[in-house]
Amino acid sequence: MFISLQELETQNVRFKADIPAGEIEFDSKLKQATALHTEGVASLLSHSVGDVRVQGDLDVHIDAVCDRCLEAVKFPIRRHFDLVYLPASEAVEGGEEEIEEAGVDVGFYEGNGLELNDVLREVVLLDLPMQVVCDEACKGICPVCGQNRNQRDCDCRTKAEDDRWNKLKSLRAEMAREGIRK
Ligand SMILES: [Zn+2]
Ligand SMILES: [Zn+2]
Repeated sequence: MFISLQELETQNVRFKADIPAGEIEFDSKLKQATALHTEGVASLLSHSVGDVRVQGDLDVHIDAVCDRCLEAVKFPIRRHFDLVYLPASEAVEGGEEEIEEAGVDVGFYEGNGLELNDVLREVVLLDLPMQVVCDEACKGICPVCGQNRNQRDCDCRTKAEDDRWNKLKSLRAEMAREGIRK
């Protein structure tokens, strides 16, 4: 759905949509797993020429990959959003900084309006946690043997500790010999 500036100049644009799974594209690690339901309204900010405010609610499930163990993770995103889009020409005028200070998420658009799908993609990305994990307690993948530690424990860490211990012991032995020689 395209939200045109022309229409916004005469009235607020209400939207209500069910966007089929997979229609909104992300990068290779994220997929829109279910239909995305959204409902909201786009309006022009009164003081401006082309600043568009988009408010609404969004509900979707996202398929992602756990940052620690690389297994598939499905998680729901259900949130209210309130974004401001400025014409790209305003990007150089420092308007962004002012608005960001006010705690509002800002985007830019080019041309005579914005694509609702682009707005929704932005909302999903803003809602993503810094680190996606299948479980807070996920043990991740062993950096030595590649074993998923949630499925089975490997003994790599113990071995590494033994190696260090052995090295220390041989070092001590060497120092002792050196001591005897003196
Ligand atoms: Zn995991
Ligand atoms: Zn291992």
